[in-house]
Amino acid sequence: RVLVGTKVDETHANWVTAYNMLTGIRVSVSRTNAKLDRPLTDVDFQVKQKSTFDIAGNELVPSAKYDFKFKDYAPWVFRHLRALFRLDPADYLMSLTGKYILSELGSPGKSGSFFYFSRDYKYIIKTIHHAEHKFLRKILKDYYSHVTANPNTLLSQFYGLHRVKMPYGKKIHFVVMNNLFPPHRDIHRTFDLKGSTIGRDYTEDDLEKNPRATLKDLNWLRRKQHVQLGIRKKQLFLDQLKKDVSLLQRLQIMDYSLLIGIHDLQKGNEENLRDKTLRVFNPGGGVHEDQDPHSVLMRTPSKLESQRKARELRQMIKSERPVPMGETSSRMPDELQEGHNRPGFVFNEDDGGFRATHEDNSPGEEIYYLGVIDCLTHYGIIKKIEHFWKGLSNDRHQISALPPQEYGERFMNFISGTTMSQEEAIRAAQERDAA
Ligand code: ATP
Ligand code: CA
Ligand code: CA
Repeated sequence: RVLVGTKVDETHANWVTAYNMLTGIRVSVSRTNAKLDRPLTDVDFQVKQKSTFDIAGNELVPSAKYDFKFKDYAPWVFRHLRALFRLDPADYLMSLTGKYILSELGSPGKSGSFFYFSRDYKYIIKTIHHAEHKFLRKILKDYYSHVTANPNTLLSQFYGLHRVKMPYGKKIHFVVMNNLFPPHRDIHRTFDLKGSTIGRDYTEDDLEKNPRATLKDLNWLRRKQHVQLGIRKKQLFLDQLKKDVSLLQRLQIMDYSLLIGIHDLQKGNEENLRDKTLRVFNPGGGVHEDQDPHSVLMRTPSKLESQRKARELRQMIKSERPVPMGETSSRMPDELQEGHNRPGFVFNEDDGGFRATHEDNSPGEEIYYLGVIDCLTHYGIIKKIEHFWKGLSNDRHQISALPPQEYGERFMNFISGTTMSQEEAIRAAQERDAA
């Protein structure tokens, strides 16, 4: 699968859908943010807020380019989640709706979900199945408590859950979440690891055609790759992962993976700058080609200028005036410069990621960008059937559809394995054999 981020502009087949998604987000998020903050109540987790958009508009909903219906789920919960993840409300809106430009990755997984990136590549919009949507609403409270107790969670950070419906169109559910990968750094290798080996292979012959493809478990093993974190960081990482996986097990979730993007400091970003095409973001090997590097990296508006814009936007949100479209200019250049740093978050502390560290605590040559993704698959009836049928022909413990308890154990085992040095791995294997 070749993954190329395509710019969604007026000529794009999904332009109207994308445009409506963003309009809905802009209006509903600014509506919620305009109010004085207050503590959450149980009811907040159930809330659905429906808006109908049309050309005319009314006192509640500003006029829009197209007719569509929009639903905002648990807006107050997501407002609080965004605050827990320390997003600035004005930045959030500006990144997503500043210029109404997204890039579409199409549908990289088997699931049929579509992925869109905000113009500055900070956020991802993923369309999700109705079942996933229902499930997220069901577990929202558990997720919220988990994030409150674990600010450094490695789980996908959900910033919003919405639905858009066009006249005669299907209902499209989607989430807004964090992009694990930084806009300002080349990701030289990407791995999506589940701890399963069956079908978890990317044919490396295709790597030439698609050098930024997402590799999988078998590629990882074959390449004898490992995550080098030293003692302290490894402990932090595995402790957090364990807590996150426990939650997923308790909620009967499976099929998630650890996404690891590796930035090689020696290679740096040279490729970007040498190339005429800028590869700002490469989720699964996606090459984003529609920008000249100079337009992004060189033409940086002054800090003052962007601060002024942010102030204006905050003002507008406060006064509940709808944010005029097109006026909130994109802040991408500034953000690219400032990078992805999210002070206070352990796994984003080194240039937005987690820097490799040797056993002797000296810094390594790689930065890891990592997190647990695709964590809305409930081990429901479909997975049970899949497990049964696949189990007939394969080793039951290797297939990817496994009951959540076992899935989590296998996942944890595999990922702890990836953090071991070669000597450690040999020692662990010997101990295992001896036992
Ligand atoms: P399937 O169910 O077939 O695995 P899916 O449609 O549910 O697919 P995901 O597994 O969520 O899709 O993601 C597919 C790919 O998109 C990932 O392997 C990764 O390359 C990229 N991706 C997904 N989420 C993120 C994220 N938060 N940050 C960066 N890249 C991501
Ligand atoms: Ca997946
Ligand atoms: Ca999935």
